[in-house]
Amino acid sequence: MKDRVIEHIAKAKSTLFSFELLPPLKGQDFSSTANAIDPLMEFKPAFINITYHQEEVVYENLSNGLIKKHTVRKRPGTVGIAAAIKFRYGVNVVPHIICGGFTREETENALIDLQFLGVNDVLAVRGDPQVGMKKFIPEPDGNQHATELVKQINKLNNGLYLDEELLNTRSMNFCIGVAGYPEKHAESPNLDSDIHFLKKKIEAGAHYIVTQMFYDNQKYFDFVDRCRAEGITVPIIPGLKPVTTSEQIVSIPKTFNVDIPAGLVKEMLKCKDNLQVRQLGVEWSIAQAKELMEKGVPVLHFYTMGKSDNIQKIAKAVF
Ligand code: FAD
Repeated sequence: MKDRVIEHIAKAKSTLFSFELLPPLKGQDFSSTANAIDPLMEFKPAFINITYHQEEVVYENLSNGLIKKHTVRKRPGTVGIAAAIKFRYGVNVVPHIICGGFTREETENALIDLQFLGVNDVLAVRGDPQVGMKKFIPEPDGNQHATELVKQINKLNNGLYLDEELLNTRSMNFCIGVAGYPEKHAESPNLDSDIHFLKKKIEAGAHYIVTQMFYDNQKYFDFVDRCRAEGITVPIIPGLKPVTTSEQIVSIPKTFNVDIPAGLVKEMLKCKDNLQVRQLGVEWSIAQAKELMEKGVPVLHFYTMGKSDNIQKIAKAVF
């Protein structure tokens, strides 16, 4: 448990297994999280990621005809659920820390909480624009890009807190992951520009990259080659998200800027219902996973979206 993600990778003799979970919806207890984790524990995950969800703006129609604006966080509790998973399962957890909705002070305090809980891994991401907003807007005195967030965490790893007057500070010990996009980030003008900024995140102190999902392994292999050509040497962990519904033919490219290959679309269209799409997603991911493992990827990281029956079938087939 003392090993962080980067040490797990360094010591591994074969491809590791990991997965990402969402914290439960507000009002739910730990059982939905346990239901997602339990079937996957037999595959000995090297680490489990927990996403962070920023507040959403909600408009309420009042009886006097006016509209009231307020914010809600639908999935709070990332730090707490990460600690609960760590202590219940004895597994490394990687809570996500985002720029959106956080001042630098709040970020520092969340990281202090994590250190007290013995959590030494984080994935540092910017976060998407708030629902209904076209552009990402940081908090006043918040981090604008993931690079700034990585820099802040790295400073804390060197004992440098926001209050420079603090004496005899304790250095933190975070292993920092960042996001990479084989098909480029939606806001990026081109892949070269995106890789240029990805390199800045590594130079700022990130230890490894986890990719956005992809359905064509060649996109991942080409991305890794381009990163290496630009001097990015850290591990690049492929992220896989099996398709589960026919609606994703439209929603995945639109939401994530990720192509669905013609062959997969053709098979999805042949499915009679989403149960069949879910099974197709399992088969497609197994084929992807087998090829990625043959090429020696350090970890296969799965996006569960909170339900793990499909990931269990894939893990059974490949691990
Ligand atoms: P950045 O690295 O800041 O990049 C964002 C864009 O800005 C890119 O186009 C980049 O090329 C550009 N850019 C970067 N630096 C600069 C600069 N200095 N000047 C100009 N342009 C720049 N979202 C959540 O809300 N919660 C999560 O838990 C979460 N987990 C994720 C996990 C993974 C593995 C991935 C791949 C994504 C995750 N996301 C999550 C989504 C992520 O927050 C979005 O994709 C977001 O839009 C970008 O985050 P980033 O960290 O890549 O941002």
